[in-house]
Amino acid sequence: HKPPLLISACLLGQPVRYDGQSKSQDAACLTQLAAHYQLLPVCPECAGGLPVPRPAAEIIHGDGRQVLLGQAWVVTASGEDVSQPFKAGAELTLQLAKQYGCQLALLKANSPSCGNHDIYDGSFSQQLQHGQGVTAALLQQHDLQVFNENEIDQLLALVTDMR
Ligand code: SF4
Repeated sequence: HKPPLLISACLLGQPVRYDGQSKSQDAACLTQLAAHYQLLPVCPECAGGLPVPRPAAEIIHGDGRQVLLGQAWVVTASGEDVSQPFKAGAELTLQLAKQYGCQLALLKANSPSCGNHDIYDGSFSQQLQHGQGVTAALLQQHDLQVFNENEIDQLLALVTDMR
């Protein structure tokens, strides 16, 4: 029985990013992950009802934790507030995690939904700041351990520890 692993759909090669692209990881790495985990692909932004492609969005006045509290917002470069679909997508992703008893997630770094350590700072100038995306924040608040694609080795080490 393999433990379930929530994974950003774009990391599995699904073309769900705002620009209609994916961020697929190398095949050997994905095969290794799939050998140890039951992969549950999800794109929180699509789950929240946003289309592909969609305008890029960044969080202003805080990070995902503050967005969940209504103290910060996710906006597009033209100023449209898309906080609601981001929050809805985070909730649906959490529901999926609960449904499968999932305690681990591998989410795309730096995304306003999926980023686990850093996000763009809201200036739309490629500047990162410390903070979490909306989905990463909600999952962490519900005790999931969230990794990004640069931390796959740590994730694979965990599975060896579980044995
Ligand atoms: Fe990938 Fe997450 Fe962005 Fe969806 S919301 S495209 S899964 S980084």
